[in-house]
Amino acid sequence: MIHERSDQLYAKAQQWMPAGVNSPVRAFRAVGGTPFYIRSAKGAVLTDVDGNRYIDYVCSWGALILGHSHPAVVKAIKQAAARGTSYGAPHEGEILLAEEIAQAMPWVEMLRFVNSGTEATMSAVRLARAATGRPKILKFEGNYHGHADYLLAKAGSGVATFALPDSAGIPAELTQHTLVAPYNHPEAVEALFREAGEQIAAVIVEPVAGNMGVVLPAPGFLQTLRDLTNRYGSLLIFDEVITGFRVSRQGAAGLYSVVPDMVCLGKIIGGGLPVGAYGGRRDLMQMVAPLGPVYQAGTLSGNPLAMAAGLATLRELGEEVYTRLEELASALQQAVAESANKLGVPAQVNRAGSMLNVFFTECAVTDTASAFTTDRQLYARLFHALLKRGVFLPPSALEAWFVSTAHTESHIERTAKAFHAALKEALAV
Ligand SMILES: *Cc1c(COP(=O)(O)O)cnc(C)c1O
Repeated sequence: MIHERSDQLYAKAQQWMPAGVNSPVRAFRAVGGTPFYIRSAKGAVLTDVDGNRYIDYVCSWGALILGHSHPAVVKAIKQAAARGTSYGAPHEGEILLAEEIAQAMPWVEMLRFVNSGTEATMSAVRLARAATGRPKILKFEGNYHGHADYLLAKAGSGVATFALPDSAGIPAELTQHTLVAPYNHPEAVEALFREAGEQIAAVIVEPVAGNMGVVLPAPGFLQTLRDLTNRYGSLLIFDEVITGFRVSRQGAAGLYSVVPDMVCLGKIIGGGLPVGAYGGRRDLMQMVAPLGPVYQAGTLSGNPLAMAAGLATLRELGEEVYTRLEELASALQQAVAESANKLGVPAQVNRAGSMLNVFFTECAVTDTASAFTTDRQLYARLFHALLKRGVFLPPSALEAWFVSTAHTESHIERTAKAFHAALKEALAV
């Protein structure tokens, strides 16, 4: 596989952007090597600038549940663009997308569109603090909620009461109100509530974790969060930026029958255009400016192209789509597990609907401690061995793979064959 043109572009890009990229994981640092540059993408397949083709399991980090350049989405964007790309004034597309979301998720009684998942979580947390008059936020180790200062903290082991920021440039004072508990450890959450419950504005959680690989909530875990937040008068925020319209049309809240006070959305609801949204209980959302005192605004929020792409996407997502995605992703999960088994590699293939990934480890993966036991070197070798066979997995062992409706049985079969050969090669080193 030749990467000549990609290498030229990458060399140039590094002059202008840190590591040549606009989001860190794209630089391939976790797996080594250098990124390829995309020329075009259609359905489940990416084509790079050197003409190499890859079956894509990144799918824009989960945003593209219909695959690349789905005809209905492209048509909607073209039609919207012809009517103007941004108004800075209200338009009907915003209402249509809001209605589509609220119909699927009845607990979203009102919402506001923003431009990214990061903005959605930031705004939801601000609202939770305003509504409760409390300063503290409880989050989970290994859950990612975008790059707002006080959410970029994961803390050490066990029950931490004071979280250290994960990034430079964040004064410790800014994370002093961020409490961090390990995922799937209800007793740790309870301990934090016993200690500081009256100060906790909200618990924010990925109801299925998708940013430490895929980690499912243990039975009862989400309900425990609901019960504790209810008991202490705190709010429960589900960050469904990945899981919304992914694990089911109702998101994880629907799948696990636990209703949060607020939901953050992004990715799929923008159909591949930049978007985010936060919404939930009407009494809470009525506190947002200009109805209420919680300020939040956006020049491009409710962008007509993003609304059109999102609406076209959600309208394709009937229940039958989820059955189909389940079949495809389950076939991939089985193929990966079988390969690992045949080749004698300990592996866990975690999956929720069409999000999945493999952890090369003996132990069940339920939190960061177990997720971090995965053999990342083996994954890096597997990644490259698969890439040269025309399969693009996320360039990090701790990211979710996504199956789209554009993937077919044939893509999955080809991936399964390539996976077996690639794993064999990765193990031979
Ligand atoms: C991607 C993601 C975000 C951040 O969304 P951006 O649009 O990248 O800012 C927040 N939360 C979760 C769960 C995500 O997966």
